Amino acid sequence: MQFDAESWDDIIGNEDCKDYLKRIVRLIHQGGKDAEPGSLPMNTYSAIISGSSRSGKSMMANFFIKCMLCKDFDLEALAPCGTCFFCLKKAERRFWNNYLFTIDSVVSTYSIDGANFKEPQMQETLRHIYQEDKHKVVFIDEFQKLVAANFADQLLIPMQENPTTMWLLTTTSRAGMGQALLNRLHKLQTKPPSNVNS
Ligand SMILES: [Zn+2]
Repeated sequence: MQFDAESWDDIIGNEDCKDYLKRIVRLIHQGGKDAEPGSLPMNTYSAIISGSSRSGKSMMANFFIKCMLCKDFDLEALAPCGTCFFCLKKAERRFWNNYLFTIDSVVSTYSIDGANFKEPQMQETLRHIYQEDKHKVVFIDEFQKLVAANFADQLLIPMQENPTTMWLLTTTSRAGMGQALLNRLHKLQTKPPSNVNS
C-alpha cells in the first residue's frame, strides 16, 4: 500500500531529488503558469528518478504532480492547499490513474502506469502532447516496463521537439535505456529511508 505525502516534509531523505522537483514547482507557481505556452522550456526539465522499490520515487513524483496541479498553492510553504478540486481528486487514486488533468489553461498532466501500458496509450499520450497548447507534465511510473516492451525509444523525438512537455519517469533501473534518451533527462536517484544516513 502506497503512502501519500501531504507535504515535502513527509518525504524523508532523498534531498537532491526533492530539491530538483521543488525548484520546478516554484518556477511554475511563480509565474511560469502565466507564461505563454512554449516560452517555458518544459522539456528541458524532464527527469528520470531511479531507485529500488520502496525508495519513495513514486510517492515523490505523485506529490510533485499534486503541487503542480493545485489551484490554490501556498508558494511560501511550498504546499498544496488540500481543498481545491485537484487536491481532492488527487487523493482518489482510482480517478487519478491514467487520467488527464488540466488546470484552467495552464498545466495539464498525464499519468501513466508503466506496468499496464499498451500501444494505444502511447498514441493517445503523443496525440495529446502535440495537440494541446499548454504546459504539460507526463508522468510515467515504472518506466522499466516500457523499456522492456521496446516502447521507450518512441519518446525520444517527442521529448526533443515538444518544448511544452516535461517528462517525469520513475524506474527501478536505467538498464537498457538508450543513451540518446538518457541524455534528455536529469538523472535523479532515490535511496530507501534506512540508507539515507549511511
Ligand atoms: Zn489544491
